[in-house]
Amino acid sequence: MTAVTARVPAKVNLQLSVGPPGADGYHDLVTVFHALSLFDDVTVTSADTDSVVVTGEGARSVPLGPDNLAARAVAALVNAVGPGVRDAPGLAIEIRKRIPVAAGLAGGSADAAGALVASNELWGAGLSHQELTEVAARVGSDVGFALVGGTAVGLGRGDRVTPALAAGTYHWVLAFADGQLSTPAVYAACDRLRAGRAGQPDAGGGAGAGEAAGPPGPPQLNTALMAALRSGDPAELGPLLSNDLQPAAVSLLPRLRQTLAAGREHGALGSIVSGSGPTCAFLARDGAHARDLAVALAGAGVCRTVASVTGPTPGATVISVPSTRA
Ligand code: ATP
Repeated sequence: MTAVTARVPAKVNLQLSVGPPGADGYHDLVTVFHALSLFDDVTVTSADTDSVVVTGEGARSVPLGPDNLAARAVAALVNAVGPGVRDAPGLAIEIRKRIPVAAGLAGGSADAAGALVASNELWGAGLSHQELTEVAARVGSDVGFALVGGTAVGLGRGDRVTPALAAGTYHWVLAFADGQLSTPAVYAACDRLRAGRAGQPDAGGGAGAGEAAGPPGPPQLNTALMAALRSGDPAELGPLLSNDLQPAAVSLLPRLRQTLAAGREHGALGSIVSGSGPTCAFLARDGAHARDLAVALAGAGVCRTVASVTGPTPGATVISVPSTRA
């Protein structure tokens, strides 16, 4: 049977600066994406009919029909290349999830990127990386980054991605929450908080770094953060992590305040909500500190479970191809 598997990373946003909503309701972003060693695997197989099967972490809350982001990515690829690209009437997509769903780690976008590179390979469609990036932008704003991986600046809706210079490997602990947060709900809460607190000195949330007060100006790339990334020193990077969505995520899930506080108490160099949450990401000094931090956070009972990961990691990568073409 002809099958191709791609491995795709989760992301954390080292900076997530959110402008005011535009007329279309979308917010202008300046973000710094960082790919983490927490991966989903996406396998595509030629078949008689289209299907999506999802196993693993959070599989039950993932749609199995054409709404699945991996299926939407394949449809976008067929649309871009033409229906003749298919080598069989259908495509079976199998997703093995390790990235929690609706957790602020862009797992759905990762699966879309995985489906793009895997079906491009399976069908021998021959789309270049640049062409795949153009298809990715039509599927969702984080899909382009999941193709590129590493550390990268995202502009617009996060879909205009430019790789960033970054040195070294960073050690992170992720604290997965019990609940999920919907990204649109978090943006709406951010708008409400900003409208309600315009002109006040503190936006609340009580989580320190990463919290923004009042109405936003145009988002700007944090050049000190980019310099810290070039230095490769986690002690420089930690205090510069920021996320404008953090107060909104904390307002919707107040127990995240305890999770973030526990990370700080145990010496995390930076403690931040990942994207729209509710996953919290903690920057450790090194691998040994990450292990200690993971044990401490698990023991503190402030989250569902923890994972020690590193970043940056590569974007969507084909890891197994048909034996006849390997
Ligand atoms: P982001 O940070 O990109 O906004 P997220 O990481 O918070 O998103 P995802 O895991 O990408 O959240 O899932 C968002 C929603 O997308 C889910 O509620 C789910 O219903 C839907 N979805 C569609 N396809 C997938 C997929 N393959 N994996 C996960 N979720 C999917």
